[in-house]
Amino acid sequence: MPTAEDDFAPTAGMMPALFVGHGSPMNAIEDNEFSQAWIAAGKELPRPAAILCVSAHWETHGTFVTAMERPRTIHDFGGFPRALHEQQYPTPGSPALASLIRATTIAVEIGGVTEMLQIHRDHSWGLDHGAWSVLMRLFPHADVPVVQLSLDRARPPVFHYALGQALSPLRRRGVLIVGSGNIVHNLGVWCQEDRAYDWALSFDDTIRRLVEAGDHQAIVDFGRLGMDARLAIPTNEHFLPLLYVLGAHGAKEPLRFFAEKVTYCSMSMRSIRVG
Ligand code: ZN
Repeated sequence: MPTAEDDFAPTAGMMPALFVGHGSPMNAIEDNEFSQAWIAAGKELPRPAAILCVSAHWETHGTFVTAMERPRTIHDFGGFPRALHEQQYPTPGSPALASLIRATTIAVEIGGVTEMLQIHRDHSWGLDHGAWSVLMRLFPHADVPVVQLSLDRARPPVFHYALGQALSPLRRRGVLIVGSGNIVHNLGVWCQEDRAYDWALSFDDTIRRLVEAGDHQAIVDFGRLGMDARLAIPTNEHFLPLLYVLGAHGAKEPLRFFAEKVTYCSMSMRSIRVG
């Protein structure tokens, strides 16, 4: 009988990893500079065996991975046009990848201390809009199996970075890791205009420089980056998916930005491909 190990046999190369600044759910259906950038980025990707998506919009106690055959399309927002609420992304799930992740010993190393982490299988979530609004642009045919990984809200940023490191070997098994959030995300002070506050531009640029310099420690310690960081990251959940992608980033791998704008006053759409 074939096993999950067979489905995700080691490959010759490393699958890239992406962080996508997802912004408004309307990017799923609007033709704009961001949706066009995501479509173009998708066309440049090798075909993955499966996708492991970490979205800002699934927070749990403990870490879970979706394990259903057919993940539902979750419309976890309100006040948008009916056309958006009617969107479906009927891509398959991957119980095999969920089983592989559950069966794999995940050693999360934080400050020299190693924790053996158990990732639990989930049968009730699906794909939230942080996942599907992006994936339907990257993979419009909905033919690549997707699992979502939850964010354990009790854990500090360094845990999420270390978990990204621990999951990075999946990239050698044809798995595309996609983090979906925003580097600057403050809905308390957003505006419906295509401009940006100075602090939002400044913080986005700080993260750009740190990413390019490979200074992941400073990014994980974003709480020390001053008032700009407090304004850019009033709550952690949209920033944390970036840490998974940086954790999975090999030291000598190339990286590039495929979207770079800060808009709606307080939302960075900066998107990153590594590998
Ligand atoms: Zn969001």
